[in-house]
Amino acid sequence: FRIPQIENEPMRSYAPGSAERIRLDAAIKKMKSELPFDVPCVINGKEVRTNDLAKQPLPASHADHLCTYHKADKTTTQRAIDDAVKAQKEWEEMAWNDRAAIFLKAADLISGKYREEILAATMLGQGKNAWQAEIDAAAELCDFLRFGVKYVEEIYAQQPPKNAAGSWNRVEYRPLEGFVLAISPFNFTAIGANLVCAPAMLGNVCVWKPSPAATYSNYLVHRVLLEAGLPPSVIQFVPGDPEVVVQEALKSRDFAGLHFTGSTAVFRHLWKSVGDGVGEGRYRNYPRVVGETGGKNFHLVLPSAQVDNAVHQSVRAAFEYQGQKCSALSRLYVPASLWPEFKAKLLKEVGTIKVGPSDQWENFMGPVIGKPGFDKIVGYIEKAKNEGGEILCGGTADGSKGYFIQPTIILTKDPKSVTMREEIFGPVVTVYVYPDEEVEKTYELINTTTDYALTGSIFSQDRLALIKATSALRNAAGNVYYNEKCTGAVVGQQPFGGSRASGTNDKAGSVALFWRFVSARSIKEGF
Ligand code: GLU
Repeated sequence: FRIPQIENEPMRSYAPGSAERIRLDAAIKKMKSELPFDVPCVINGKEVRTNDLAKQPLPASHADHLCTYHKADKTTTQRAIDDAVKAQKEWEEMAWNDRAAIFLKAADLISGKYREEILAATMLGQGKNAWQAEIDAAAELCDFLRFGVKYVEEIYAQQPPKNAAGSWNRVEYRPLEGFVLAISPFNFTAIGANLVCAPAMLGNVCVWKPSPAATYSNYLVHRVLLEAGLPPSVIQFVPGDPEVVVQEALKSRDFAGLHFTGSTAVFRHLWKSVGDGVGEGRYRNYPRVVGETGGKNFHLVLPSAQVDNAVHQSVRAAFEYQGQKCSALSRLYVPASLWPEFKAKLLKEVGTIKVGPSDQWENFMGPVIGKPGFDKIVGYIEKAKNEGGEILCGGTADGSKGYFIQPTIILTKDPKSVTMREEIFGPVVTVYVYPDEEVEKTYELINTTTDYALTGSIFSQDRLALIKATSALRNAAGNVYYNEKCTGAVVGQQPFGGSRASGTNDKAGSVALFWRFVSARSIKEGF
């Protein structure tokens, strides 16, 4: 195989007055003048309008919505599944170079021709500011596609190292027999793309149910894949209600895999449904179940930490994209000796954060995604107050025009208080100040306060302290960072995912994920 050298997509900085900023502003303006868009289901490359409509709101403005989409009914979902399954043979038999070219071309289209449009859809629809959208819908999205091609090559290259005399052994990496159901989240446009493209690259066919709150950006990505030459039935775009789309998919004998990113509660429910199906002998194969779910991620600041850096990294990890990343910081452990300095610097930095519509350049934070999230976050702030938590800053929210919540820091005396335990998925971080001599006890708290184990950072300038903490926190996170924030894993650099309640730890952005979507066949030939 001869794919081009793969690099991470360079990120744009959108300096004031730069051509790239002007172009992005123009794309946003154009999108605002044209909305709401009409988004169909796309089955076999054809637009299907069911006229059972739902809206994707604008989180920053109740006055408008970004798109109206057509929800798939049972018949449409069934057709999507059946036709995807029918298309599988031809797709898997397409030469790998040709399959690879489609995804490499899609990455180039996203990097160039469609960059601003997909960024604008992500900014307006999902409430990201330009830099957060750039990380996601430009850089990570291109990286998933390009590195994905490299990972598939690595898999195909794995062959048995031995042949006995007079024979030749080889392994064929077939796709799963059936279809993969991808259920994608609102918070990363790139994750939606990866949930379908990773299996598809390997010759699988997919039914894609996007998050209602990311419908438009996901639709644009799907359109790019078709423009890049993806055969029309390989990835079916099926927005709709889970009670229809997911239920139909899980009823199908051809259901072969679930590729999920979203909440822990939904994943548990899906796993149970799949388990019931397996128990009843409903499926042809044991389906692969791959899921990345919630987190309750920590920063552990050790007494040997450099305070300025730990503060800055904590502010970014907790408040970028309003804390709506599975990886976002929500438990911050600071030693008593550093707390006075840490607190002063933390409050000073958070005091500079502006909250407002995410297409206005001065806003570090935009709106949270919607009403249920807004109510849940506000509810957690209230619960923390009721439990005796001290609100050090923020704690206020304004849902009158859009869903805006101020960056909120809660100081708790109880390391097992509700906001130290439960995922909030918003701009709220809880601080627990531990006695310096109780570092060991703090490891124990980090390990046992929640069931999650997604990301965590350790701040120290003392190598031995880092080693000790890493060992004590062995199973507390799938992604560990030293002196860096616990968000922002980069494809090809930090394979991403967690275990325990945080998911199956199949590591997006690495070859490990791709192994889950092949069904190998060994062939021995005697000469
Ligand atoms: N990969 C992202 C990060 O490292 C988080 C993905 C998510 O929120 O699901 O920040």
